[in-house]
Amino acid sequence: MRRTTSAERPDAIVVGAGIIGAACAHALARDGRRVLVLEAHHAASGATGAGMGHLVVMDDSPAQLALTALSTAQWRALAPELPPAVEHDPCGTIWIATDDSELDVVRAKHRSFAEHAIASEVLGPLDLASLEPNLRPGLAGGLLVPGDGVVNQPRAALWLLDQARAAGATLREGCRVDRIDAHAVHVGDEVLHAEVIVNAAGAEAPRLTPELPIVPRKGYLAITDRYPGFVRHQLVELGYLAHAHTMTSESVAFNVQPRAGGQVIVGSSRELVGWDASLDDRMVRRMIARASEFMPSLAAMQMLRTWIGFRPATPDKLPLIGAWPGVPGLWIAAGHEGLGITTSLGTAALIAALVAGREPPIDASAFAPARYTPQQSTRAASASPHSTSAP
Ligand SMILES: Cc1cc2nc3c(=O)[nH]c(=O)nc-3n(C[C@H](O)[C@H](O)[C@H](O)COP(=O)(O)OP(=O)(O)OC[C@H]3O[C@@H](n4cnc5c(N)ncnc54)[C@H](O)[C@@H]3O)c2cc1C
Repeated sequence: MRRTTSAERPDAIVVGAGIIGAACAHALARDGRRVLVLEAHHAASGATGAGMGHLVVMDDSPAQLALTALSTAQWRALAPELPPAVEHDPCGTIWIATDDSELDVVRAKHRSFAEHAIASEVLGPLDLASLEPNLRPGLAGGLLVPGDGVVNQPRAALWLLDQARAAGATLREGCRVDRIDAHAVHVGDEVLHAEVIVNAAGAEAPRLTPELPIVPRKGYLAITDRYPGFVRHQLVELGYLAHAHTMTSESVAFNVQPRAGGQVIVGSSRELVGWDASLDDRMVRRMIARASEFMPSLAAMQMLRTWIGFRPATPDKLPLIGAWPGVPGLWIAAGHEGLGITTSLGTAALIAALVAGREPPIDASAFAPARYTPQQSTRAASASPHSTSAP
């Protein structure tokens, strides 16, 4: 068995080189820590490579709003440093209302955003049609959130890793961690030691920390041929909020994204089918049919490729960010479901602050992994018989 000597011993080991591990490695290295990143396959090969790259403020809960608002502000601040390959596009989001009742939801969202100093604009049907002429006529309006944007998310993760390496971090790819103990990780018969271990293994995080209530939530996406200008903002139906929030076994919602070069990514679906990676044409057809209800000409567009990914989902729709009680030195940064690209930077800022004992930039208590330790779960369940449990 090989053990690390003190000369080569890192201060922090990050397990997983998705966008969460990449951002955490960057933040920890910037704080002066010697960081080692261990990745089972290659960087950005998990959910990060399979996602959509929408940077979006969401207000499902006060904690989600705080983390997404912090993170989108960080992406905007970082934008001037991002190389063209990251394809940062400050295109904004339009949440689409199909009828008057959804327009009431739009107005409520506008008020809630205004209370938190997040810019947004209520659009009537004519404004909506002029901003996005390929939407069908007859929609009630929408909410434009101009501070949202899009990145090419695997390239953003690779760039964050490059920045971490420039600050002294090391990346080992093809290196699967078998076990995490107090201040140590096991890779085959090698044991690597560090003061800080971060489990950033996405939907696979429970394989290393079995008590984590994270499950894979399968999602399909499709990408079209090049149709420059067809979509100008990230367009999402308001019903997406219920689709993302409710842990039903299967749902689809209209969600399309303009990519640099004129391609359009069409989403999205959510399914709870474990790690079943098979491609089901029926789901793809359902998703494209839903999108075509909003943008009829999409139905005739050339789809070049469809693929799936697994979002790391938690019962309360919030990620786990912070110390894991019971395993000294272990920190969790996982469970970001459909918002991990957006919230990677905020997550990293929280982890770096908590590890260093600094005041975090926002209240981190709602994300504390300790809420899912067996003791806490028993208490929560007896306090509320209706509380959500791991699906
Ligand atoms: C269809 C779809 C659309 C999405 N759209 C968006 C969007 O528009 N905006 C947004 O913000 N988010 C979106 N997401 C969510 C986002 O992609 C995820 O939340 C995010 O990528 C999670 O990042 P991660 O680093 O935690 O996980 P991952 O990217 O899965 O990275 C985990 C890494 O850990 C490695 N690993 C696992 N086990 C081990 C081990 N034992 N040893 C070493 N390495 C290990 C894996 O190989 C992997 O590379 C989407 C996701 C999907 C699937």
